[in-house]
Amino acid sequence: PHSVFAEAPVTIFEKMSGLAREYGAINLGQGFPEDPGPLALRERAAQAAVHGWNQYAPSRGLPELRQAVAEHYNRLQGTALTTDQVIITSGATEAIAAAVMAWVRSGDEVIVFEPAYDAYRPLIERAGGIVKPIRLEPPHWQITAQMLDQAIGPKTRAVLFNNPMNPAAKMFGADELAALAKACAAHDLVVISDEVWEHVRLTDRAHIPLATIEGMRERTIKIGSAGKMFGLTGWKVGFVCAEPDLLDPVARAHQFLTFATPPLLQTAVAEGLAWDGAWYAQMAQGMAERCDYLRQALVAQGYVCLDSRGTYFLNVDLAGSGIAMGDTDFCEAIVREFGVAAIPVSAFVSDAGQGNIVRLCFAKPETVLAEAAKRLGQARQ
Ligand code: GLN
Repeated sequence: PHSVFAEAPVTIFEKMSGLAREYGAINLGQGFPEDPGPLALRERAAQAAVHGWNQYAPSRGLPELRQAVAEHYNRLQGTALTTDQVIITSGATEAIAAAVMAWVRSGDEVIVFEPAYDAYRPLIERAGGIVKPIRLEPPHWQITAQMLDQAIGPKTRAVLFNNPMNPAAKMFGADELAALAKACAAHDLVVISDEVWEHVRLTDRAHIPLATIEGMRERTIKIGSAGKMFGLTGWKVGFVCAEPDLLDPVARAHQFLTFATPPLLQTAVAEGLAWDGAWYAQMAQGMAERCDYLRQALVAQGYVCLDSRGTYFLNVDLAGSGIAMGDTDFCEAIVREFGVAAIPVSAFVSDAGQGNIVRLCFAKPETVLAEAAKRLGQARQ
């Protein structure tokens, strides 16, 4: 017997969090905030559990949450979603899996932009699809029409897009989205648009939902995440929004993956989605301040960092910082010798070699970031 996942790697997040535990390191690897998340939502979930909301929810999600998701996006992003255009999943990763199962057939080529979130490739390949990577380059991680023209062929059926982009911490601009939209229309492609970081904006740039670009509503499957919105990453509550023709097959796939998502968590998330835009702006502002704090602390230690426009992540340019080591070697060394866990960005690109960018999660208290920067300073000496 042989499993197709027998040789699959343990994810870089699991690996680095494991090393962080083993060495008692500060964990700036896997992206999760250190604070416990909004108390009102945690209390709401706890009350729901106490009062017995512990049986299966409807497979597509609690109606109150589906409605809250639609209203949230309509209010904050100017969409016109209806409740039947939303389903709830057990995290965005499940949403991506369901969307890929529903829309990628054997032999279909799927465009992904690298460095790409690590779940994309194994899910596409398990569905029988072929990954067509487009490699974006620092510091601007720019998408051009020419790149799309080169990568798209007669077998291309879909694009798995991520904006804001993890690990690049990039937010794509209107020109790049227009180029993508044009290519999708020309080749009749479906886009699975992973927008889980939409509210974690680190500059005053607005997030542009792909479905709001001309011609994209009817070909975009948008994925959102309560984990990222509220800093409750362990809750694993995700959303999928699309027109019924696109969404219904995803809902069918979801039935056979997790069937449904815990109702106690869904009811709490519905409460948070109703908060006004100021709450989200404040959350993003707090994240932007921590990003700046870590950046300045690293610059003071002689490190050069790339721009961070969205996500919980700040990328260090090792080569620019005068460090000749590859990113994987550097991450292995700093966790063992200096007690800081980080993620090598080369883990997100398909060619095997090491790179020179290291991703750090800044969603931590300043004292933790200061100590991590100090230790990283020692690693340079
Ligand atoms: N999204 C998280 C990150 O980029 C990882 C989530 C996971 O480990 N599955 O750090």
